[in-house]
Amino acid sequence: MSRLLPLALIPLLIFAPETSRADSYFQQFVHYTIQARLDTENHMLIGTEEILYKNNSPDTLRQFYLHLYPNAFRNEDSALQRSYRQRYNVNLFNIPKAHRGFLDIESMSVNGSPVIPEIDDTIARIDLIQPLPPGESMTVILSFREKIRKHLGRAGYRGKQYDLAQWYPKVVVYDEKGFHPDKFEAFGEFYGEFGTFDVYLEIPHDYAVAATGLVQEGDPGWNINRAGKTSNSNKKQTGTYKTVHFHAEKVHDFAWSASPDFVVQDTTWNGVKIMSFFKRGNKKWKDTTLVHGVRALQWLSKKVGPYPYPQLSIVQALMSGGMEYPMIVLDGKVSEGLVLHEVGHIYFYGIFANDERAEAWLDEGFTSFQTGWYLEDRYGPWGKKHEWSFYEKITPQYTILEDAHRSLFPILRKGYGERLATTAEDFKNSYYTTVYVKGALFFNALRYVVGEEAFDRILKTYYERWKFKHVNEERFREVCEESSGLELGWFFEEWLHTRKKCDYRLDKIKTVRRKDEKGYRADVEIKRLGDIVMPLSLEFTLEDGSKRTYRIEGRLRTIKESFELPQKPKRAALNPQNEIMDLNLSDNFIPRRRDLQFDWPNNYYYPEDAYQIRYRPGIWYNDIDELKAGFLFQGSYMNEKAKRRLGVYYGLESERVDFSISLEKPIRLFGNNGSMSLSGYKMEGRNDITISLFLGRRKTLIHPPSHDFTIGFNFHELRNKRYVVDTEAYEEEPDVGPFINYVVDPQFDILSSRLTANLKLGRDWGGAKFDYERLATTVTFKTRAGWIPVSAGLRFFLGLVGGQMPLQQKFFLAGGGPLAQEQRFFLRSPGAIWEDLNYHQAGHGNLRGYLPGDFGVNRLFALNFEVGTQLPLGFLKKISGGIIHRVHWAGFVDLGEIMDKENPNALSARVQSLTDSGILDATLIDAGLGIRGELRFPFYNLGFRLDFPFFVNHPEVNGETDELRYRYVFSLDAAF
Ligand SMILES: [Zn+2]
Repeated sequence: MSRLLPLALIPLLIFAPETSRADSYFQQFVHYTIQARLDTENHMLIGTEEILYKNNSPDTLRQFYLHLYPNAFRNEDSALQRSYRQRYNVNLFNIPKAHRGFLDIESMSVNGSPVIPEIDDTIARIDLIQPLPPGESMTVILSFREKIRKHLGRAGYRGKQYDLAQWYPKVVVYDEKGFHPDKFEAFGEFYGEFGTFDVYLEIPHDYAVAATGLVQEGDPGWNINRAGKTSNSNKKQTGTYKTVHFHAEKVHDFAWSASPDFVVQDTTWNGVKIMSFFKRGNKKWKDTTLVHGVRALQWLSKKVGPYPYPQLSIVQALMSGGMEYPMIVLDGKVSEGLVLHEVGHIYFYGIFANDERAEAWLDEGFTSFQTGWYLEDRYGPWGKKHEWSFYEKITPQYTILEDAHRSLFPILRKGYGERLATTAEDFKNSYYTTVYVKGALFFNALRYVVGEEAFDRILKTYYERWKFKHVNEERFREVCEESSGLELGWFFEEWLHTRKKCDYRLDKIKTVRRKDEKGYRADVEIKRLGDIVMPLSLEFTLEDGSKRTYRIEGRLRTIKESFELPQKPKRAALNPQNEIMDLNLSDNFIPRRRDLQFDWPNNYYYPEDAYQIRYRPGIWYNDIDELKAGFLFQGSYMNEKAKRRLGVYYGLESERVDFSISLEKPIRLFGNNGSMSLSGYKMEGRNDITISLFLGRRKTLIHPPSHDFTIGFNFHELRNKRYVVDTEAYEEEPDVGPFINYVVDPQFDILSSRLTANLKLGRDWGGAKFDYERLATTVTFKTRAGWIPVSAGLRFFLGLVGGQMPLQQKFFLAGGGPLAQEQRFFLRSPGAIWEDLNYHQAGHGNLRGYLPGDFGVNRLFALNFEVGTQLPLGFLKKISGGIIHRVHWAGFVDLGEIMDKENPNALSARVQSLTDSGILDATLIDAGLGIRGELRFPFYNLGFRLDFPFFVNHPEVNGETDELRYRYVFSLDAAF
């Protein structure tokens, strides 16, 4: 505190209450007694709740708060729904009214006196008539009525299963910061008061129920569907109910799941009963889940401390991910990692109960870290639980640590990184990546800084001191400092409270032979490029293959150190394991590492420690070159930096060498990420050079809209007309000029939408023949995949070109035209594919029914509409061994209006005759049905589209007479 305190403040300070409570930890005690009846007809939960609340704080309480979480799903105005709208501009909860949920308090009393709570969204506030002094208790009694929502988020019903989490009026925590009456929002989880639960669940007699706590009384239904029995053998009349009493201590929440279809398995480990609840017929879940449950408890008990509860239930949940509650976890899928993560939460959230909204990293980071640690410990750096597939054997795979880096580092490198210690609702870019991934890497870095042994001591001490208590950063840091003997304030400050980056470079090494000839001296220079300071480790590999590792300080911007070595060092590496989150690891090695890879399809491995060069052979055919073969080389660091591309191909018959080349460099301009690029090719009779500058503008990573600008200059010419498929639509002279492309993705509500505009100015510079202005604009709307079973899309296209343009720059009625086609090797030159295939290269007018008679015009307006659903062809997936992944059907209509019929200059004689006969005055229409499929091969995913435009209103354009007849077009791309 400053000594120059204004005098006026002094009296205030004298009377200010004691605010420092660091040494006076307290926590409140709560005893819930809840009776609830599950009405499966109306999806209601009707009940009463008695809360015995003991005030262990040094403060007199004048208010009391309860969470009413189900109200987040009551209507569009809830804080949860508002925060989704603000954040994503989408209404994720645009669900039918009948599927919504809420929690109403019907009546309430405090110490026998009726009170009316003030309800605001998910928070009920009660002003206490009698304030509650320190050390005193009060009894709150209420009756509640809950409408259970159709499953959404973490809870609800689907079919006969009910997953009930955050379902009862739940006491808001009072700690040294006061009450935490936080409304439930898009991000952030929970915070509960420790205590005892006695819950009496009244459920249909044929239901099995899994819950926090131990059964005291009643039949939980666990014998109804013991594993091994094939069907529900309980034949009592429907409509009868049973009551099951669960009791739990030292927990801060109570969750349960009930279904008549659960199969129940259990086992015992170290006195703990481990139970697994899953749907009948789920072979994957059977047995394996119990094994994973046992392993989780063994691991956590060994690393942290004994599992302190008598029971653990793992339930096959309705949600797709997983969610943790005391003594019970709800997992959407069977996965060892997921079981480890969620059971880990019973420690890091359950036993060490932090405020998950204020410090999500402390529970999510910790349990993500321990899950990775477990998988590495058990299965090695890749954490591979199964046999490697053939594909995995021949292609490199990310280790657990590399995988974490590759999801986080691009966000940090692009400047969207956020502080770990951010309150959940204040995250703007990357809540999940920051909290889970960077959170886990924080603990990984901590283990590196303090060392393995001290880290083990930290976990044990943390457990002994803070089990069944509320933890936070300060409490955890104190344990770390005490157990390691290190001052760690800097570490917590830099990694949790700043957005600073860590980046070191091993600059140079000079090796000199010592004068006494007894070894070598290595003079090392390291540069600190980032702002975070970390202790470094430098590893030398000597001539005989042995290694020497040294810890050095990383504080200076230029670090110079000398090392005495018995032999000449062959290699040196600075933190090769990258425990320090070094954002560019490729410069941490001398000599620098190179990675040469065969470019397998679906191979997304970009090593963080090396510059990668991929190579891929290419072989195809066209009538001029005949067999054509060559290689494509692509170099980059992490597919982000220093991107270079070179393709070289040889035509066997023509004896011509073709090539393509491109260079790209990322840049930051006006606070935006972008790139500069130079590319060119000499390919099958065409020459092309493009130079461009790209800028992507977005305020945050997730908030729409995003804007992409490209400005550039292009030179294009055709030197050999023999390579052109449609010679009537292509001209040879050079086409030169600047261009601007703009793409905006506003993403509103349930539609995804996109506007693209590109403006090209053809200029007669340097004696070029063409001089024109060309504008192409497309707007598309598509339904988002998700809760709508129908997918629909609408596209508008407007193309305008004026002046002296080459034929290939016109707008084509049926598809993207020759310039779009020549970007694909199999469409570029004659003979590459079967001529009668009717390949539809999407674009421009997209009137697919007019494909055989396609031609270009100067002004074109078009509209395309598609609607369809997925075909229930699960059996095809089965019999094809998963290759036929998905099949959709779609109905489509395309409309096109040629806006310059009077000016069909430079069109072919055929088109001229169509113009003369007045056919093109009308709106051109086609319509039909099609299927879209996705094939998944081990090495390759292939989408295809087969459209049947049965109806074409002017068949004369195609040289046909019948409007209605069989026609087809084929494509590997979506229509739009
Ligand atoms: Zn988690």
